[in-house]
Amino acid sequence: MDPDAASPIAVALHGGSGTILRDRLTPEKERAYRTALEEAREAAWRLLAEGACALDAVEAGARCLEDCPLFNAGRGSVLTAEGKHELDAAIMEGERHRAGAVAGLSTVRNPVSLARKVMECSPFVFLAGAGAEAFAAQQGADLVDPGWFTTAERLEQLAKARERRCAVIDHDDHESEKTGTIGVVALDSRGNLAAATSTGGLTNKEYGRIGDSPLIGAGTYADNATCAVSCTGYGEEFIRAVVAHDISARMRYRGESLSAATEHVMHVSLAEIDGRGGLVAVDASGFVSLPFNTTGMYRAWRDSSGSEGVAIFQE
Ligand code: ASP
Repeated sequence: MDPDAASPIAVALHGGSGTILRDRLTPEKERAYRTALEEAREAAWRLLAEGACALDAVEAGARCLEDCPLFNAGRGSVLTAEGKHELDAAIMEGERHRAGAVAGLSTVRNPVSLARKVMECSPFVFLAGAGAEAFAAQQGADLVDPGWFTTAERLEQLAKARERRCAVIDHDDHESEKTGTIGVVALDSRGNLAAATSTGGLTNKEYGRIGDSPLIGAGTYADNATCAVSCTGYGEEFIRAVVAHDISARMRYRGESLSAATEHVMHVSLAEIDGRGGLVAVDASGFVSLPFNTTGMYRAWRDSSGSEGVAIFQE
């Protein structure tokens, strides 16, 4: 028997958390979200089941979600105060702690793949703005016109946020059922963990604002000894609470289980600073945790024990 056949594999992903209300989501929309989440999960799962590495799986799942205009990442990203797109992403693997991140992109179709290029083809971890775009061109990344990311709903959302004079987390725009940031975590059959997160950030954001998603340790983290984590929510609080690394640190130094660590960080540490959002995490034995402290989080998971699902609301 192939020894790998007994090794656990697992994937979990999110498409954003926030004020996601059942009565605001038509059955058609709900179906569309569920289908998109399931497709991304299966794209990642297929690779894991074929023996691919966790990095390939999280990148594939994230690319699916970036290409789906329902989510605030890649195509369908929210707009800045100037009516532009500034996309952020990060990827990390837990074996050697290699990581790559990008911020402020406006022409790179799949920011998560550029983050991986930063990790694998540069001596750096984090590239932003014009430098990141130049690196993308040099690496032959798939480039698109910035208009490719824009959808009619995003223009409408920006107009509303401007009226309210605030930067709005995608899924907290009560009048819109459009949703947010995406992230994928995975465990492969060799015991390697990886995490990826990609976002358009907040609607109406200003001044080159960068959230938690591309920050290693805040919105994205992976360590084979503990877990892989991808977050979604108000980035400022997730940065201040260093959420993803704190979960890993609680497991490493306090010996907490994944669920104890995620529950504490989500419902105590973040709650203390009024942080709102959610996260997906997986540990080295394939246990998955998907906590959130909002009314909903678009999410999906599958593991080799047979557990799988797609969910949106508290259920
Ligand atoms: N965390 C993201 C940010 O602050 C937003 C989100 O998760 O929707 O940029």
